[in-house]
Amino acid sequence: MSQANGLQPKRTVAELKELRALTGNEGGSQRVAFTDTWVKAREFMRLKLAELPVHVSADEAGNQWATLRGRSERSILIGGHIDSVPNGGWLDGCLNVLAGLEVLRHIASQGTPPITVRLVDWADEEGARFGRSLFGSSACSGTLNPDDVRNLADQQGNKLPDVLRQHGIDLDRVKASHKQLENAAAYLELHIEQGPVLENMGLPLGVVLGTVGVERHQIRWTGQSAHAGSTPMSQRRDALGGVSKLHLAVREIAKRHNGVCTVGSVVTKPGIVTAVVGEATMLLDQRLLEAQGLAQMLSEAKQASERIAREENIGVEWSRIWQIEPIPFHPALIELADESIRDVSGKSHRLPSGPLHDAAEVARAGIPTIMLFVQSLRGLSHTNLEDTKEEHLEMAVRALDRLAAKTIQWLMNG
Ligand SMILES: [Zn+2]
Repeated sequence: MSQANGLQPKRTVAELKELRALTGNEGGSQRVAFTDTWVKAREFMRLKLAELPVHVSADEAGNQWATLRGRSERSILIGGHIDSVPNGGWLDGCLNVLAGLEVLRHIASQGTPPITVRLVDWADEEGARFGRSLFGSSACSGTLNPDDVRNLADQQGNKLPDVLRQHGIDLDRVKASHKQLENAAAYLELHIEQGPVLENMGLPLGVVLGTVGVERHQIRWTGQSAHAGSTPMSQRRDALGGVSKLHLAVREIAKRHNGVCTVGSVVTKPGIVTAVVGEATMLLDQRLLEAQGLAQMLSEAKQASERIAREENIGVEWSRIWQIEPIPFHPALIELADESIRDVSGKSHRLPSGPLHDAAEVARAGIPTIMLFVQSLRGLSHTNLEDTKEEHLEMAVRALDRLAAKTIQWLMNG
């Protein structure tokens, strides 16, 4: 149970730097999936894994697996993604993989584990080149529909299926990767937080409760465009009035529910300084971990919009752009993660994840899933300014190691 068995968190930090030197430049990390640098990063991983008694393979969706056989076929999965966004940070995704490697080493050093332990590097988590995130994990979970991505192309016009083929992947067979989950009994993922919550609380580590649900809508307000000089204030039907009032209303709705609501875009017509706005379209994004609360935030926003439409004598229409349900992580694993963090750093905190992660896909496939977050400095990610204190990275490796040990024990008892 101690460092004596060989867990070396400092080695993870050194390997992160090694990977950065190998696959980054002055702009940041350049491990965009299905590029030469990404292939190089995976070779780097395979070289490290070659020193361990593991079997390394790639599945039909291009996910890379390292399997340490245990006495039972039942398996615990530790996951991450070695791909990055262009000019990305040095931690997003690859911390998960390299911390998992260190944990795998530690477990292997203790002899044959009671259950099988597998490290997975998911293919194209970021979707940076083709715009579809979570490619490998959603193929594996079964939620990816190949027809939805068949026509995706990168900025140079290369089609996704052609690029996949260059990497030995047949788009029509990617869902066969689902069989990798056959014996999976638990899935663990460590990730940088990519937000400011843990840093603001002065905590190195937190337990992720799940990924939030998202409601994304377009709201179109219609009034009457009219001359800015000749139309008295009392006689205007100003479509922008709807936007302004609803924007302020959704901020209060978010606060009441402890969620987030964002108006990220407003387009007005005719959009000139001398005319009252006749038509205004706004985009609203609402997120919350609880499905009921999210539905409530949506219905409150709709009610507010109808009241505002009456007040302003304008019309309002809603259309849904996208939605995803909240994906809660496993209650027993939440407890184990909490204990692991307290063992390592004394104090834990539970928080939802705003971004989606591969872990959410695994959870959707019905595998008990949990994530740990480690503090991100200034809350920055997807930029080469992304950073985490080295002592916190080391704590994160220790917490993941403890969580793996506790999870194995939990599975043995269960
Ligand atoms: Zn990531």
